[in-house]
Amino acid sequence: MSSTAYIGLGTNLGDRETNLRRAIDLISELAGTRITRHSSVYESEPHGRARNWFINSVIEIHTELDPLELLKALQKIETAMGRKKPAKGEGGGKKASDRSVSRIIDLDILLYGNQTIDERRLKVPHPELANRKFVLLPLSELAPAYVHPVRGVTISELTVACKDDKKVHLFRPGR
Ligand code: ATP
Ligand code: CA
Ligand code: CA
Repeated sequence: MSSTAYIGLGTNLGDRETNLRRAIDLISELAGTRITRHSSVYESEPHGRARNWFINSVIEIHTELDPLELLKALQKIETAMGRKKPAKGEGGGKKASDRSVSRIIDLDILLYGNQTIDERRLKVPHPELANRKFVLLPLSELAPAYVHPVRGVTISELTVACKDDKKVHLFRPGR
């Protein structure tokens, strides 16, 4: 049986559009996994200590991988694309404010069916989802009526209520 999951993609290093496309290609090649929908691509002002703006999007997948298998597969793709583990003090720290560093690709599981998972390695829904416009705007294109299993409100409602003041706009290449 396959489950529907939403993956958030972000990149702010190198050729960002190529990075996004390559990650999506690699995800589409995962065993038992099919990409069913794509959001628009957004460009977002960095949070934390990164300087370059990100491009972000969300994809919907149908997958037979369980949540941990999916996480491992996404991490393999990040590594294959050349993402390095940040050194301590460069985003390797535990504080959320330390974490938003530059990266070739970041792949997060935002939602997995209506499951709630609270393990050290994997938290679903993604704990920062409700605080990030760069996630909520693309996610609300694909799943506006999805009821957040912890907060009990829809993605649309979370988007309207989000206090994130960082800039996010639709990405127009070459601008
Ligand atoms: P943030 O979680 O704030 O978006 P980040 O994406 O920069 O930060 P990473 O360095 O990419 O953080 O990942 C840190 C750890 O987060 C990973 O090793 C992974 O085990 C864990 N993790 C927990 N929940 C999730 C999730 N839903 N999706 C992806 N990784 C997760
Ligand atoms: Ca992330
Ligand atoms: Ca991540």
